[in-house]
Amino acid sequence: MGGTIVSKYKDITNERFGKLVVINRAENKRRDALWLCKCDCGKFITVKTFNLNSGLTKSCGCLKNKNCHKKYNQYKITGDVVIGLDSNGKTFTFDLADYAEVKKYTWLVDKSGYASTTIYSPHNNKTLQLHRLIMSRKDNFIVDHINRNPSDNRKINLRYATHSENGANSKIPINNISGVIGVSQRKDTNKWIANITVNYKRKFLGQFDTKEEAIAERLKGETKYFKEFAPMALNES
Ligand SMILES: [Zn+2]
Repeated sequence: MGGTIVSKYKDITNERFGKLVVINRAENKRRDALWLCKCDCGKFITVKTFNLNSGLTKSCGCLKNKNCHKKYNQYKITGDVVIGLDSNGKTFTFDLADYAEVKKYTWLVDKSGYASTTIYSPHNNKTLQLHRLIMSRKDNFIVDHINRNPSDNRKINLRYATHSENGANSKIPINNISGVIGVSQRKDTNKWIANITVNYKRKFLGQFDTKEEAIAERLKGETKYFKEFAPMALNES
């Protein structure tokens, strides 16, 4: 009677070999056991038992690869707030209450100031943004940074907003010469135009001789359409 074929290899799940930690036994094509391993750098690799035991394979390859970008974070705790430093020297902030979760990942701050991490998986890698880790997903809502600083991920600075409300809190476009969102000057007539975007649709609020009138109209529009999500300050420095 044929029984179950018992692997002649010892189960090495969770064992560490250099930078590799064994996740589980991978599917075998031949008789040799292959193990799915996770490298400290985040990459996954399948390795033969022999290569692990003999020390032939100690990483996904990043140990030998001089070009491999070493990513790490440093943290500084100040009261209830943690200041994180990425491997490029950029900072991000969050509450001490979230520290245990946050430090499980390696964060990089992008050009816009958003901290994100890549979650590697053998099939498709996923990007996780820090504000998404801190504020769990809520249908039809996105997470908004109240003070418009995306690297400030303290809960006091995060709230749920709809896409339209988030647009209300977006930064002033560079091409906007008035310094106020939704107020611009026509090049042909020099008149001032007030616009507002509500639910992705641009509404025309009016055309004025002076910038001040256009701004006043825009503010009225913000109060009407965005309510508490209206930006408070007129000008950003
Ligand atoms: Zn690696």
